[in-house]
Amino acid sequence: MSGIFYEGRWYENTDMICRRCGSPVYESDISEYSYQCFQCDEDLYSFEVEEQDAHYMPPVMVARPVDGIALNGALEYLLDDTGNARIFQNQPEAEAFLLSQGFTSEDLEYFYFVEVPENEE
Ligand SMILES: [Zn+2]
Repeated sequence: MSGIFYEGRWYENTDMICRRCGSPVYESDISEYSYQCFQCDEDLYSFEVEEQDAHYMPPVMVARPVDGIALNGALEYLLDDTGNARIFQNQPEAEAFLLSQGFTSEDLEYFYFVEVPENEE
């Protein structure tokens, strides 16, 4: 699953973007609304969003729950040689890497693919 952590909560990718600023939008915490844009800090109705360009895939970091238990967002990130969270160009690349490391496609369901905003790379 891919998505982001925002203030300690996991938000799954919706494949929709904000019409105003073009950022990905996530499910709203308020039932009256469909989505929310963290960039604009606003909750949005469905007519205020549009489908994401199908070709766009954000860079991702790979994380999994510590000891396999998703509790209070305790996650361990896959690190690179310098000890920083490793950033993959996109989710398929991250999945290919994990498969090459001996994980099965079933294992992949337990990983979080955490999207990295382009400007934070
Ligand atoms: Zn926005």
